[in-house]
Amino acid sequence: MNKSGSFYQELFAELPKNRVFFDYEMKNFSTFKVGGKADVLFLPENISEIQDVLAICRANSIPFQVLGRGSNILISDRGIRGLTIYLGYNFTKVSCEGNHIRAQSGASLASISALAARNNLSGLEFSAGIPGSVGGAVLMNASAYDSEIKDVLISSSYLTPHDEIITLNGAEHQFDYRNSVYQEIPAIILEADFVLEEGNRLEIYGKIQEFQIKRRASQPIDKYSAGSAFKRPQGNYASKLIADAGLKGYRKMDVGVSAKHAGFIINYGGASASDINRVFAHVKSVVEAEYGISLEPEVKWIGDWPEEEIQWQ
Ligand SMILES: Cc1cc2nc3c(=O)[nH]c(=O)nc-3n(C[C@H](O)[C@H](O)[C@H](O)COP(=O)(O)OP(=O)(O)OC[C@H]3O[C@@H](n4cnc5c(N)ncnc54)[C@H](O)[C@@H]3O)c2cc1C
Repeated sequence: MNKSGSFYQELFAELPKNRVFFDYEMKNFSTFKVGGKADVLFLPENISEIQDVLAICRANSIPFQVLGRGSNILISDRGIRGLTIYLGYNFTKVSCEGNHIRAQSGASLASISALAARNNLSGLEFSAGIPGSVGGAVLMNASAYDSEIKDVLISSSYLTPHDEIITLNGAEHQFDYRNSVYQEIPAIILEADFVLEEGNRLEIYGKIQEFQIKRRASQPIDKYSAGSAFKRPQGNYASKLIADAGLKGYRKMDVGVSAKHAGFIINYGGASASDINRVFAHVKSVVEAEYGISLEPEVKWIGDWPEEEIQWQ
């Protein structure tokens, strides 16, 4: 922490005591189960709370970081400077009206797909097993089993660092494979509106179950990871390249490439973020040396990373 703990405690003194934490361990806010401390961690419940904390950040030149449910990130062992806004616990309201599902961005994909199923709405079945939030999924254009967020999202709203709320519709999201305009602009995604098709409830549940069975059979979902480590390179699969390079099951201390799915890098329990970072670098360099293909991480590096550790990217 560059600024002192008491500086932050005074600055954020007005926030609800049970939802603001100082110098707080972030391991449990990431599915990799690594990462140091956040100077300030806040779990907002509504938009005006987010606006209030951002106003404090603006007035005091404090950096901020937004997290959804932490399933696509690698948090530095040195932690996160300034304010971390974690949306996945309290900013999670969802509602269904006709064939629309509306959700606050911290809502889990599991919760919106379950709500859709209960209302006989089809289109979100693919997302039930993705452990992220609505905001993270929109930013990443999350996808599985030949469906993607792009297929069902009609609009989303976001907050700019200057306190404007803006709505984007359809093509304005500029969705692409694991990409959206939100990766280009400073934005806190607030809400999303999905439009779904009427369907048969039993068929919808059946599809969700079929995808879950496939996922359990093919992915190490019982281990700490952030899902696919690298993006799919043009015309190829990262997991195939990694396996063909002989790295399936590779292990260095407590980090490894899954023996079940070579696309997943796993923390077996005792790894640090730096250990995991080193395995990412190793996998990328071996694949590049073997096939001349430069893998691009899908995971986002968060927090205070030493420049020299992440130069390999
Ligand atoms: C076991 C496992 C399986 C997975 N399977 C899949 C899969 O099948 N398909 C798939 O696409 N992904 C998969 N993932 C990856 C991950 O779940 C998705 O990328 C998900 O969309 C990330 O959402 P999140 O809320 O966890 O984002 P986080 O990890 O919290 O954040 C990811 C990025 O999004 C930003 N962000 C998050 N919320 C907001 C917001 N509201 N406003 C602005 N920025 C925001 C963060 O700053 C960060 O840069 C898997 C992960 C795991 C661990």
